[in-house]
Amino acid sequence: MTIATEIVTARKLGVKYVTPVVPRRAVLAMAEYHPPLAGRDALRLDFNENTFAASPKVIERLREVTAEGLTKYPEREGVERIAAAHFGLQADQVLLTNGVDEAIHLVCTAFLEEDDEALIATPTFFMYDVSVSMMTAHLQRVQSDATLEFPFERFIEAITPKTKLVLVASPNNPTGAVVSREHLLAICGAAPQAVVMIDEAYYHFHGETTIGDVATVPNLIVARTFSKAYGLANLRIGMLAGNADLLKYVRKVCSPYNVNGVALDCLPVALEDDAYVQWYAEQVHAGRERMVDGLRELGVDFFPSQANFVLMKIGAKHAELVEAMRARGVLLRDRSTDPGCDGYVRITIGVEEHVTRGLAALKESLAEIGWAR
Ligand code: PMP
Repeated sequence: MTIATEIVTARKLGVKYVTPVVPRRAVLAMAEYHPPLAGRDALRLDFNENTFAASPKVIERLREVTAEGLTKYPEREGVERIAAAHFGLQADQVLLTNGVDEAIHLVCTAFLEEDDEALIATPTFFMYDVSVSMMTAHLQRVQSDATLEFPFERFIEAITPKTKLVLVASPNNPTGAVVSREHLLAICGAAPQAVVMIDEAYYHFHGETTIGDVATVPNLIVARTFSKAYGLANLRIGMLAGNADLLKYVRKVCSPYNVNGVALDCLPVALEDDAYVQWYAEQVHAGRERMVDGLRELGVDFFPSQANFVLMKIGAKHAELVEAMRARGVLLRDRSTDPGCDGYVRITIGVEEHVTRGLAALKESLAEIGWAR
């Protein structure tokens, strides 16, 4: 394609040019993900973050950061060894990443050719769409039915000899639905030619994992984040666990300095403070129970969730609810544009006080907008 035809194609896609330089066709066609990046100075029940704090031990470690320390490039290897030992893995079975967002991107970069297929079940985390579509136009989506549960049988049927990457979040975002370990391993078995990446970002709020299977399942990669239960979203640190032969290729496409040194300094302390993470997970378990009881009382239908959020069925007044909540200083995430999610709004579950505030604001807001089931 010449530059001129590229520009015509780009214009058809609605891209306005201020420069004659064109990006790759895949980038032109790529899905865009624009979560709000400003104006979130409120009780943030919109991003599934830890609503409270990181471990006090991490904060102590942060106080030890020095000006001299900031001059140095980060050293990932030692911390990778510590993380591997923590999860019962070998050092070469672990890669620390700049959050799971980067991990997804690296896996797509390492494994997807432009004629390969990638497979996801929708609705799910939108970054899969973004990172896959940078590499290939062949993202296959299997839509869940109205229950928003994982469509296991149809998912298995959608695997083809061209399937090179399978991405499954369990618990899933935005639904909170989970996929059993048995089903996840069946997917690995049904697609031996593909990398199967299980995204366990919300592991702590559910408790089931396939991380122990990476030594024996050659095409399995498990992603974990420290952004949620650990409360370190702002440090940007996540992890891939997988067969060493697979991770070798991911390491190849990864910057040696992808994770900053402050995050690396904090990770061993965060991992050691198991009691803190357990406390936070217990807050979420109790808060989730209170939230769903409160929703039942308010007459709001919702999807059963094993994560630190609940997807509510609001209906036509979804945007009005989000605005009414914002006016009360509480942010929610409208998921209406996700496939099969019209009228659905997600609320994050945090510590007790934040669940109380969230529920009180919900009650007032639903009354204010004249909401009825
Ligand atoms: N995976 C899922 C399923 C998520 O919901 C999120 C956060 N929204 C991420 C990954 C990203 O995690 P991180 O902060 O580690 O990039």
